[in-house]
Amino acid sequence: MADMRPTRHPMPEQEPLLRNQNFDEVALGYTAEIAQAEAARCLNCKNAPCMQGCPVQVHIPAFIGKIAEGAFGEAFSEIVQTNALPAVCGRVCPQESQCEAHCVRGIRGEPVAIGRLERFAADWHAANCPSDGAQEAPAGNGRRVAVVGSGPAGLTCAGDLARKGYDVTVFEAFHKAGGVLVYGIPEFRLPKSIVAQEIERLERSGVKIVTNAVIGRAVSIDELFEDGFEAVFIGSGAGLPRFLGIPGENLLGVYSANEYLTRVNLMKAYRDDYDTPVKRHRRVAVIGGGNVAMDAARCAKRLGAEEVTIVYRRSRQELPARAEEVHHAEEEQIAFRFLSNPVAVHGDEAGHVCALACARMELGEPDASGRRAPVAVEGENFLLEVDAVIDAIGTTPNPLLRMTTQGLSANAKGCLIVDDSNETTRAGVFAGGDAVTGSATVILAMGAGKRAAAAIEAYLQRA
Ligand code: FAD
Ligand code: SF4
Repeated sequence: MADMRPTRHPMPEQEPLLRNQNFDEVALGYTAEIAQAEAARCLNCKNAPCMQGCPVQVHIPAFIGKIAEGAFGEAFSEIVQTNALPAVCGRVCPQESQCEAHCVRGIRGEPVAIGRLERFAADWHAANCPSDGAQEAPAGNGRRVAVVGSGPAGLTCAGDLARKGYDVTVFEAFHKAGGVLVYGIPEFRLPKSIVAQEIERLERSGVKIVTNAVIGRAVSIDELFEDGFEAVFIGSGAGLPRFLGIPGENLLGVYSANEYLTRVNLMKAYRDDYDTPVKRHRRVAVIGGGNVAMDAARCAKRLGAEEVTIVYRRSRQELPARAEEVHHAEEEQIAFRFLSNPVAVHGDEAGHVCALACARMELGEPDASGRRAPVAVEGENFLLEVDAVIDAIGTTPNPLLRMTTQGLSANAKGCLIVDDSNETTRAGVFAGGDAVTGSATVILAMGAGKRAAAAIEAYLQRA
């Protein structure tokens, strides 16, 4: 008999005013007792509506049922049948708009905390069975596949193919594998040891990873084929930052969120034992309303800024960030200026940022995205006194691969064009994740990596 309490079990967390001064993980994870109690809220619905919201088709009621029984290892095994990165997804997926949005318990109360339970199963497994859980490397079939980029799309594609016996090599431009999971999402939301542990599990299942390898510069995709790779998957993400194009964006103290977060996360600027610091600012404005803006703002606060303000041109209702991240940012004393659109960055005589000029906005008619478009209110500009501005208004795919690979077509936004099976316009070259969709989510990138792995297998069987 399911537990019919309407509300989910809260996640234990660090206190807001303590955690906004450190980079330790904010959410502490369910204990075994809480996890079992929350799992008991699941109704084990026959058609599992929650699964409709999961791009990688995790068998949700099955794994939750195992947690309810206390069979935590079996719960983990159930998840990794279809999801190679459960500790990551349990932490960063926007579950409220995916699996949990379809959960029937959400009709008269709060949905089952599916993401938190997924995280629990993965963390329990890592703590109790650290070296097992990789599907052992199967006998190889000798057919080689190259994967460009080690973000969630590339890792998922590589993991699925390796499990079927393909000889897969992932080429990563950075010195560390993981894509945005290591260079973008901060330690306090996704500890890097968790990402490393998921990647090690993939390596144990046979995936080879070569870092410091920029494909399209050191080696071209054509050369990969000449070297004996029979198919290539491109999961190179969307790492090229966009700027607003307003006056003053070249002043000292203006960053792209991409640069700022890479310096903080990958280059460990927050740690005293690293030689790669970032300037500490007192008053910081972050432009944008997505996860990236929340992450940049919360990092700035943790680096000692007294005032951090998120400047967003629509209202709170339209914020694209995960609900939990917005809530956490507010708790950590990040300020929000809604309906505000930056029009210029002002600098002092030395060329350092000293203020951000903004126009006040109101919402007009819905635009192409279906959301009400912000329109400037005449004569209502205002100044925010700041000494740093971080642009978090989006990114596009890096053009390197499409410029150096013949036959690879992209749309007007620079995203690679693929068919339903994720094959690009170049035979044998597949693509997925942010490189195809523009910046999206971890789980959508993983879903694309999965589809592409199946398509690559079909392609190689035909070849
Ligand atoms: P990426 O993760 O970008 O990985 C691409 C990899 O390819 C990179 O490591 C890059 O170095 C490498 N690469 C690029 N070009 C080459 C080349 N030529 N040769 C070799 N390697 C190359 N999503 C969520 O679901 N939840 C969140 O909470 C969330 N928060 C986010 C916070 C931030 C700060 C950012 C930036 C994004 C966030 N996202 C979040 C979005 C999510 O991280 C991305 O949608 C996802 O990582 C895309 O995966 P990917 O594999 O397509 O690309
Ligand atoms: Fe359990 Fe909700 Fe899925 Fe039903 S919809 S099986 S209650 S998680």
